[in-house]
Amino acid sequence: MARTLLDKVWEAHTVRTLPSGQTQLFIGLHLVHEVTTPQAFQMLRELGLKVRMPERTFGTLDHIIPTTSQVRPYADPMAEEMAAQMIQNTKDFKLPLFDLDSGRQGIVHVIGPELGLSQPGMTIACGDSHTSTHGAVGAIAFGIGTSQVRDVLATQCLAMAKPKLRQVRIDNALAKGVYAKDIILTIIQKLGVKGGVGYAYEYAGPAIERLTMEERLTVCNMSIEGGARFGYVNPDQTTFDYVRGRPYAPQGEAFDRAVTWWKSIASEPGASYDDVARLDGAAIEPVVTWGINPEQSVGVSQRIPSPESAPETERPTYREGLAHMGFKAGDPIKGAKIDVAFVGSCTNGRLSDLRAAAEVAKKGKVAKHVRALIVPGSQQVAKAAEAEGLHEIFTAAGFQWRKAGCSMCLGMNDDKLQGREMSASSSNRNFIGRQGSPTGRTLLMSPAMVVAAAIAGAVTDVREML
Ligand code: SF4
Repeated sequence: MARTLLDKVWEAHTVRTLPSGQTQLFIGLHLVHEVTTPQAFQMLRELGLKVRMPERTFGTLDHIIPTTSQVRPYADPMAEEMAAQMIQNTKDFKLPLFDLDSGRQGIVHVIGPELGLSQPGMTIACGDSHTSTHGAVGAIAFGIGTSQVRDVLATQCLAMAKPKLRQVRIDNALAKGVYAKDIILTIIQKLGVKGGVGYAYEYAGPAIERLTMEERLTVCNMSIEGGARFGYVNPDQTTFDYVRGRPYAPQGEAFDRAVTWWKSIASEPGASYDDVARLDGAAIEPVVTWGINPEQSVGVSQRIPSPESAPETERPTYREGLAHMGFKAGDPIKGAKIDVAFVGSCTNGRLSDLRAAAEVAKKGKVAKHVRALIVPGSQQVAKAAEAEGLHEIFTAAGFQWRKAGCSMCLGMNDDKLQGREMSASSSNRNFIGRQGSPTGRTLLMSPAMVVAAAIAGAVTDVREML
């Protein structure tokens, strides 16, 4: 019987079926960072346990890292304490850490694929929801909580139930000015933020196959925002070309052997799915969120819907979204004034994102009333962008060029919204308070759209600038 990647990778990593019916699943790669690990390491100490497979565990610093001055001790004592703890914990438990002086530091979901740690056919876990990102290379990758971080550190295994599988097919080709971010925001708009609960998403179809690996990483990154436990793309030549030559990827003949296996784990024609959803890629336009979750979005040419257009159960959230954002049903999203523009995050902080952003930055200058930040997702992204001169394009246009980190994706470092500021953001969550101000407002969109908004001073259609 034809099988899916989920079937094959799950089976290959199954240690046994537990009495609860869950699977004891072996974890091939465990990525750790400073926010969700201090308690887990402390629990290991209290239990007198070591890390079971330090060779499969890698750490970085990302959430709390300042993106201006990175000289220690950090100005924020909390950030300094968390960095110091992470450095100490990885030292005590003999784990590699991509610290600031490594040249490889960055957001955990940027550096995993970038370094070739994340490979097809793997199971990958990390104490962060957006671990779904790594599914883009053809892996089963999911976020876990702190007690599960402890479990993986101690045993390299997790107790997990296998989710159902929905294939999400995107047919046809995207139009110019439409990006991977618009695909995933459209999927979440159509299927809902809870639409994926109980499911994993397999992204497929011509529009997905045409995406570069970095674009696939953007799509898989937001699987969790659609409620899916994880999302993946079947490995293909794009995957193999991306992984080849990366520092932690198999080299030489080992790479060729790996490719043979990676090819064998892709879903087979005729495999059955618990559900299939189809969308027309050609019909997708640049998307902007108007509300307080990533489902509440419209195409840039459209108007904000009324709560009455939503199912009864969702109307209170629609009303809350309109009230928080200060929008009225029927308002066009185009023209919504912004105060802050942020390009970065594990969704859109990669080199190709910065290239797309720079193309638009060449068209004008940041509006006088807008504070605009470009934050590379990793030190390596920063280095590559600087080698291409992208930082000069951004600074000439009035953007601030920052150092690698999570930055304004969430309010855990100095980059925060102030008061009711409205932000055009390339990140993944527009939840109330997400960007550090309880009254701050976030409009999610692609990096190109963020830069277009920064120049116009308001939401605009990037297609008119390209
Ligand atoms: S960039 Fe945002 S979503 Fe991604 S790991 Fe950092 S805080 Fe989490």
